[in-house]
Amino acid sequence: MAYKFVDNYRERGARKKLVAHLEGRGISDKKVLEAIGKVPRHFFFDETFWNQAYKDIAFPIGDGQTISQPYTVAYQSELLHIKKGDKVLEIGTGSGYQTCILMELGANVYTIERQESIYRHTIRVLPGMGYNAHFFLGDGSKGIPEHASYDKIIVTAGAPWVPEALLKQLKIGGILVIPVGDENIQKMVTVIRISETDYDRIELDTFRFVPLVGDQAW
Ligand code: SAM
Repeated sequence: MAYKFVDNYRERGARKKLVAHLEGRGISDKKVLEAIGKVPRHFFFDETFWNQAYKDIAFPIGDGQTISQPYTVAYQSELLHIKKGDKVLEIGTGSGYQTCILMELGANVYTIERQESIYRHTIRVLPGMGYNAHFFLGDGSKGIPEHASYDKIIVTAGAPWVPEALLKQLKIGGILVIPVGDENIQKMVTVIRISETDYDRIELDTFRFVPLVGDQAW
């Protein structure tokens, strides 16, 4: 079934401006910028709020949750260095916008959401837009061990620490990107698995995410 919304010249123009804005903020990976330029972010909004869709802001999507800010999506996507065919675990499907960007980058995405109403909404919307990820409902702080291991893991909610389960499910050479901190503010953390037992951890800029709620989290 074709998705009910249209992608007209006004939205395409606004998207182009958003890409230029993100480039101005320091996003330099051309593939990430191209992906942002392709995914119609207004499809995730009620038509009343289309004028907000290409602003560089997070926006409420119901159930107290938000669609991530485009800069944050671009920032995390850039850190993942996605290669075509990478098997990527995404924790916190939310609106599914980040999922679409990962798929535009060529990833095979396994995405998990803990809130059933959000999950039900997203499994309808994304395939309707042509993005057929593998969708799961549950606590992603434990990863999805039955489908491990993963080339890349992205967490799109703020965690108190890096869950052990995610480290175990990362392939050697793989990259995990996760915001870590308290419930108000987090540092973006990149973890690279360099051997069976060794990991490199790099702390980057400060962000503010909704909390990762679960067995291995808040
Ligand atoms: N990436 C999304 C986007 O592009 O719009 C935004 C994600 S939103 C900031 C964070 C999501 O993580 C929320 O939908 C929340 O319900 C979900 N979440 C929080 N804890 C979770 C957990 N333990 N497992 C799975 N999802 C979780």
